[in-house]
Amino acid sequence: MNSFLFYFPVKIKFGIGLWEKLPEEVISFGKRILLVTGKKHLKETGILDKIKSNFENYSFELFIFDEVPPEPPYFIVDQGAKIVNENNIELVVGIGGGSVLDVAKGIAVKCKIPGSIWNYIGADTISNKGIPCILIPTTAGTGSEATRVSVLINPETKEKLSVASDYLYPTLAIVDPYLTLSLPQNYTAYTGIDAFIHALESFLSINNNPLSEAISLKALKLIYNYLPKVYRHGDRIDLREKVLYASTFSGIALTQTGLGAIHALAHPIGVYGNISHGLSCALITLPVLEYNLEVLPREKLILLGRTLGIYSIRSAREKILDKIREFFDTLEIKLGLRNYNITYDSLPLLAKEGLKSRSLRTNPRTLREEELLNLLQRAW
Ligand code: NAD
Repeated sequence: MNSFLFYFPVKIKFGIGLWEKLPEEVISFGKRILLVTGKKHLKETGILDKIKSNFENYSFELFIFDEVPPEPPYFIVDQGAKIVNENNIELVVGIGGGSVLDVAKGIAVKCKIPGSIWNYIGADTISNKGIPCILIPTTAGTGSEATRVSVLINPETKEKLSVASDYLYPTLAIVDPYLTLSLPQNYTAYTGIDAFIHALESFLSINNNPLSEAISLKALKLIYNYLPKVYRHGDRIDLREKVLYASTFSGIALTQTGLGAIHALAHPIGVYGNISHGLSCALITLPVLEYNLEVLPREKLILLGRTLGIYSIRSAREKILDKIREFFDTLEIKLGLRNYNITYDSLPLLAKEGLKSRSLRTNPRTLREEELLNLLQRAW
């Protein structure tokens, strides 16, 4: 067996109702806190008001930054970091979907480094740590609370790229299924698919190792079995719990191994088609997976098959693709890029953009621009 490194410096607390104890969690980090969230859902559910009132019993100064849109542009991070520096903030707390978490972790490091966060796109470009950061997911999808990545968009160039650094790991992740109860049915499917694809691409990654493999297979199994149930019964916290934990597991796995061509292409698909991240992943999954399965060693094919309930090696590749197609069907995902504002003529541009992604480096097969284009054409 090859040697491997598994580095994971995040304290994670799982449990229903933990979000209400936030003031007790932050005490050791200081008194001046920036709470980062989105414009809507935390307010609409009354959770933001409840958090504010929970803080009133303590002598904290709570600053609210509720400007984060879905698929966030990089300058939101720069804006948040300015608030941190102007107000001597000691701790950043992000509560929201992956978009909010990516901005919160970005703010926590950006406040200690010069220039725009966009200058740090790439891996290991940040050379010093930021201020402490607590991340609390409200979607069961990105696993951002467990990753060293912040994904951002540059609206001028239409690029969607990431900053990756060990300094982007949060200090603490609080993972509470209660917060995902309000997630609408379509986002439950999209975000759950994102977590599923994280586990899948981590399992297939050339950097996969025995520990990440065990975590990714556990996550795959949980999401495969429970996401269709959560999709139908979104009010069942016992089901929400399974998918949320699995999405954190997927984050732990992916941050060790990197991802693959599904994510490399999902980013330009999302930006150019204005499509939610998890749905963008679903739209390109089957062609990429078919391409990758061709080189999957027999023992990995058996493991993946078993996780999806396939117990015979005969025609395993076709059966795996069929199972995932059925999985998308149960989540009412309409496949075909043509159905989502993506023109056939734009596919070469998407292939060019996909080529910029670091995720391609860990894909089990090498892909050049022409192969990416071919996969996009098949997904169209
Ligand atoms: P999101 O954060 O963009 O949220 C999607 C929508 O759901 C938003 O309108 C949001 O307000 C709403 N929402 C969130 N939680 C809700 C709740 N509990 N109830 C009601 N509405 C709620 O979606 P996401 O899929 O979680 O995050 C996507 C972003 O994360 C993308 O930019 C993607 O590239 C990035 N991402 C990051 C990582 C990472 O490791 N950092 C990994 C994968 C994806």
